[in-house]
Amino acid sequence: MKIIVIGGGWSGCAAALAASNQGAEAVLIERTDMLLGTGLVGGIMRNNGRFTAAEEMIAMGGGDFFELADRNSLHREVEFPGHRHSNLYSVARMEPMVRNFLLSKGVSIDFQVRITEVEMSDGVIRSVLTRQGQGDVPKRYDGNAFIDATGTAGGPANCNKYGNGCAMCVLRCHSFGGRVSVTARAGVKEMVGRKGDQIGAMSGSCKLLKESLDPQIAATLDQKGVVVVPLPPSKVLKGKLSLKCCQQYAIPEFEENIVLLDTGHAKLMTPFFPLELLRSIPGFENARYEDPYAGGLGNSIRYVGMAPRDDALKVEGVENLFCAGEKAGLLVGHTEAICTGTLAGYNAVKFTRREKPLLVNESLAVGDAIGFVRRQMQEEGVLSLKYTFSGSVYFERMQARKLYTTDVNAIRARVASAGLEAVFASR
Ligand SMILES: Cc1cc2nc3c(=O)[nH]c(=O)nc-3n(C[C@H](O)[C@H](O)[C@H](O)COP(=O)(O)OP(=O)(O)OC[C@H]3O[C@@H](n4cnc5c(N)ncnc54)[C@H](O)[C@@H]3O)c2cc1C
Repeated sequence: MKIIVIGGGWSGCAAALAASNQGAEAVLIERTDMLLGTGLVGGIMRNNGRFTAAEEMIAMGGGDFFELADRNSLHREVEFPGHRHSNLYSVARMEPMVRNFLLSKGVSIDFQVRITEVEMSDGVIRSVLTRQGQGDVPKRYDGNAFIDATGTAGGPANCNKYGNGCAMCVLRCHSFGGRVSVTARAGVKEMVGRKGDQIGAMSGSCKLLKESLDPQIAATLDQKGVVVVPLPPSKVLKGKLSLKCCQQYAIPEFEENIVLLDTGHAKLMTPFFPLELLRSIPGFENARYEDPYAGGLGNSIRYVGMAPRDDALKVEGVENLFCAGEKAGLLVGHTEAICTGTLAGYNAVKFTRREKPLLVNESLAVGDAIGFVRRQMQEEGVLSLKYTFSGSVYFERMQARKLYTTDVNAIRARVASAGLEAVFASR
């Protein structure tokens, strides 16, 4: 039983782990030389409803990565505008921790392998391949089931066409080749996020080198994890909020203030900020971008290709293809990627065993979000919103449905009454 996971972001890592935990041979393929994809520059966990989702996953036996991220937190229970009880992981240490954890669990990881071709017969994928001539030796991976966890970010052509151009982000498309969607290569018509004339959406935060900031700002960041600096009205850049994919941060506080969070670097909660303007603000005279390198100009474009899928995360039209993370819909975040990745990996194994797939009950936030986002996109045709446990439309729904709670015992009881206690745990 061989499960091939394409894409080593948070969703692909979770999918490979879940498949391996169920006894499959799990192979994780990543086009760059590091895991975590956009999670290499993220770091915010457990804010608002993400706390509930993380605890549901822990109770379901799929909580390893949440526990690793907790252990790697630089700050816990941080409050910033609109967000409560956030943990901030160290972006420098997270990737090696995840890599070593996956290897210790028996997952094979192949780096610098960019899948560009799919071989199919009778509606079933038989193999995924690198293009002939790419790299030294073309590679082929045969499997029983496949998981598309390739994300939705970039490549440079999308960032040029729909954004402000390549801003040199952590995905390093020019070095490793751009993202390639396995779903699209399998002939499935993907869905495209759009809001008015904007196709896709721009990533919503940058990183500044902490040592390039005023020592007082850096010290407060080290101590408290958060710094909010009000902007003089003449320096507020209007209009950037509507570009953002992180709707949970598209509130005026993020436009009218500089909001910094400590994830090792200073995470600047805005898609981009012209460097000269930034340097005209006291305390930021020497500011320098760490990610994206051209954060003064723009950021990566995401949500340009999502798979039509069911609530078991199987891609429509291909019998043995599952999807996870951003590929599974307009779901933003590491937590969201880990939840969908875990379910996709688990159901890929179920498929291979010819067993019925697991549908996570809608009495849990994780199950409700997966079903709600699918219905919104596929039945209601809503492609302009983004969904996350941490804010905006889906967090409002969580609260209205009384799914949001930080009472861990209540969450465990809910998971138990759905009959899903330790369902994802290692067999
Ligand atoms: C700048 C930024 C900051 C963010 N901050 C946060 C945050 O603080 N907290 C939070 O919860 N979320 C944050 N997010 C959002 C979050 O990172 C993502 O929504 C989530 O991690 C997506 O995970 P994924 O696995 O779906 O995709 P990705 O992270 O995009 O991973 C996809 C992976 O697939 C690989 N890949 C693509 N094509 C191929 C191919 N053909 N063959 C092999 N490999 C391939 C890519 O190299 C990449 O590693 C942030 C995003 C960005 C861009």
